[in-house]
Amino acid sequence: MLVKRGAVLVLSGPSGAGKSSLVNEIINDIGDCYFSISTTTRKMREGEKEGVDYHFVTEEEFKKGIENDEFLEYAVVHGNYYGTSLLPVKEALSQGKLVIFDIDVQGNVSVNNRLGDITTSVFITPPSLSELKRRLAKRGTDSPEVIEKRIENAKKEIQRVSEYDFLIINDDLKNAASQLRLIAKTARMKHPTEEINEFIQKWENA
Ligand code: ADP
Ligand code: 5GP
Repeated sequence: MLVKRGAVLVLSGPSGAGKSSLVNEIINDIGDCYFSISTTTRKMREGEKEGVDYHFVTEEEFKKGIENDEFLEYAVVHGNYYGTSLLPVKEALSQGKLVIFDIDVQGNVSVNNRLGDITTSVFITPPSLSELKRRLAKRGTDSPEVIEKRIENAKKEIQRVSEYDFLIINDDLKNAASQLRLIAKTARMKHPTEEINEFIQKWENA
């Protein structure tokens, strides 16, 4: 059972949509928060750091984590395992923090199943598929084959926008960041079901 006092903000969207860039833009303006660092079996990209961008593990280590029930959620994305460790999330929530996840559409479903009452979800996308291709090429961190896989996945992911509370079209970065800042601040105002039930009882008896 999770001790919930904080709230959750899920960010999804194609790889290259600008999720990391947007989080960097707002992270100092939205109060006490914890950015969940996922575990993955994907190879480290140039410029990435262990424990900062991801915890990079082997498939064997990841599967051990699944067996030991260490993940709040996990999924296979673009042929690699990605998962959210449960322990740090539990701790951050019990401290009343806003927990931010950068996870895919499958992860959003899992998080909503477990923490739906305190979760706000946002789908982030560039204005078009061609712009996504341009940004992935410009970022220069992935091979043409990997980019192709990500583009194919993006076409599927965009079909599921309606599963999210909000859609942000990341055309102008500053403008998109303003929208995300507002959503992040509001996300904190979601109350866990138990807290609402307690409030109703008190309200009736006061
Ligand atoms: P994600 O975290 O969703 O994979 P990134 O934040 O790494 O995406 O952004 C992908 C690339 O697009 C980066 O090179 C980033 O600098 C660039 N980028 C992000 N937002 C914008 C924007 N609004 N306009 C132009 N380029 C952008
Ligand atoms: P990338 O390899 O570009 O860092 O991430 C690829 C995709 O995996 C992105 O859509 C990202 O949101 C997703 N992802 C990253 N971490 C997790 C996670 O812990 N769980 C799930 N379900 N998806 C994740």
